[in-house]
Amino acid sequence: MRTAIQTLALMAVITTLGDRSPRVSIGYHLTIEPTHVTQAELSITFRGAPDTFPLAMRVHGEYDAQYWRYIENLRIDSGSTPAARITRLDSTLWRVSLPHGSGVVRYRVVIQPPPSTGMRVWKPYARADGAMINPPDFFLYSPELAQLPVTLQLEIPPSWKVATALPLTSDHFGRAADALTLLDSPLLLGTLHNWSFSEAGTQYHVAYWPLPNGTAFDTLAFVDGLHRLARAAIGVFGAAPTRDYLFQIEDGAGDALEHRASVTIGVNAARLARDPNDAMQEIAHEFFHAWNLVAIRPAGYNELSYRAPRRTPSLWIGEGITLYYADVLRRRAGLVDTSPRNGRLEHLSRLLERYYGLPMYRSVSPVRASLAFGDSPADNPEATGGYYLQGELLAGVLDALVRDSTHESKGLDDIMRAMFVRSLTSAGQGYADGEFERVADSVCTCRLDEFFARQVRGAGPIDVRPELARLGLRAVIDSIPATDTLGNAIPDLRVGIDFTIPTAPRLVIQDSSTAWGGAGFRSGDQLLTIAGEPVQSFADFRRAVSGLRISEDAPTVPVEIERRGQRMRFSVPVTAYRRARVRLVDAATVTSAERARRHAWLEGRSSRQ
Ligand SMILES: [Zn+2]
Repeated sequence: MRTAIQTLALMAVITTLGDRSPRVSIGYHLTIEPTHVTQAELSITFRGAPDTFPLAMRVHGEYDAQYWRYIENLRIDSGSTPAARITRLDSTLWRVSLPHGSGVVRYRVVIQPPPSTGMRVWKPYARADGAMINPPDFFLYSPELAQLPVTLQLEIPPSWKVATALPLTSDHFGRAADALTLLDSPLLLGTLHNWSFSEAGTQYHVAYWPLPNGTAFDTLAFVDGLHRLARAAIGVFGAAPTRDYLFQIEDGAGDALEHRASVTIGVNAARLARDPNDAMQEIAHEFFHAWNLVAIRPAGYNELSYRAPRRTPSLWIGEGITLYYADVLRRRAGLVDTSPRNGRLEHLSRLLERYYGLPMYRSVSPVRASLAFGDSPADNPEATGGYYLQGELLAGVLDALVRDSTHESKGLDDIMRAMFVRSLTSAGQGYADGEFERVADSVCTCRLDEFFARQVRGAGPIDVRPELARLGLRAVIDSIPATDTLGNAIPDLRVGIDFTIPTAPRLVIQDSSTAWGGAGFRSGDQLLTIAGEPVQSFADFRRAVSGLRISEDAPTVPVEIERRGQRMRFSVPVTAYRRARVRLVDAATVTSAERARRHAWLEGRSSRQ
């Protein structure tokens, strides 16, 4: 009796979902044949698994290519009776019934050609000389077995190399500690070029996949730029989050996406040929994410899930502070050319002009804008995306407040380092709402209640005076006619259009004082035609408005929309408009201490330098 109970208990342990029992093994196999590179054949071999368990496709919190649409011929075989079954429950969820717990799930993923607007580095892509494999789009995982280690075997054309954060043997076999590690390690495959360098105990690897007949550029200068960037980031945080880190660089692609131990980045080699640091702003941004947003992660943000991501109030930290450092790190690393156009004062002026140029940045708080992530501004007026700009401005102010309060001995760097150190002991738990504020207070040895209440949780306005005053500067804000680069007045086309639903673009009205805002449209109206031309894409929009000219007789342009099933026609005035102008000028008096601070600020120097 006792034995029977023990046996039952043992079986319960083996079949407990999510259990770390070594009896369960999960092995992935991905095959790409040289003759069919756009077809990935996959299998997942389960041994010792529960009788039934779910299988899912991960939905990524930021970019989701919805590859569940391109899975073909999904089947399971176990070679035993009763027969194994796999049943679809939802677009991203299946249920596997596997009597005796052992069997093989097989399927094909058809890699899609890129859209006419070009490759996106986070979207799967394949051609004869290689492929970008974004794991969530290929590797189904079981949410109930996600904590278990998995193996991966690749079978790829012999001329292809592999670059991935997952350690692989020379015959392309590797192990991942859990499903998330596998799903967070993109595979760049093909005729790759490789470099590496080390900094502060971390080995950095660079893999570059050129376009066929792509433009050559100074790769040594490019890799040196990455090294300088890594050194500047280590200056902030003290260490990298991982002992190995991989830059996966794809020529001819757009966008970039951060992961725990790697980053995928699209570059344009022709532009790198003109300036090897051309892509550094974007690279610095995504690289900084390895700390801020991945290691220093808001609670719940982008956790492993097959459902729409959870919301966070902290994107102004994850994205906005990252933008701030994308600018500052490049200055510290000497990667910004020294022309006045790229000066830090110029950069801050442009940010402020954008901030004062759209009322929504001053009506929706950074926290509210963060929480609206993923919504269309055509449906939710709080979906301003303002947390990028607001967060970058707030970062500069926060740095100034901390420096003032600590006699220049501490700054934003110390807040970020404290957040990173905290993340190392948090066992993967993200930081809770309010934690950043507590850390900022403790680094500052001051209370920042009012700053957070008014400018972070409240809609501001963001007050950059503390940042400017300590540099002997003040802002002069006025407005001037909006012109093109030749000084000709340009027509008021300040209107948002959401093109995310193919063939049904929707208007987003963010400012009622603009020509389009005053014409009678509402957010959500479906745009049909401009001047009689159908508009379904941004390219259509540009074509339709390119001929609009401002003239004495104040012409209008007819715009047709559909609202609640009804076709409606509006006339939009083609008029000039004034835009916000911000100049940063010397304060009435400038002390020598302020001049010295300004000099250090222009170079983006840390409080430690
Ligand atoms: Zn970002």
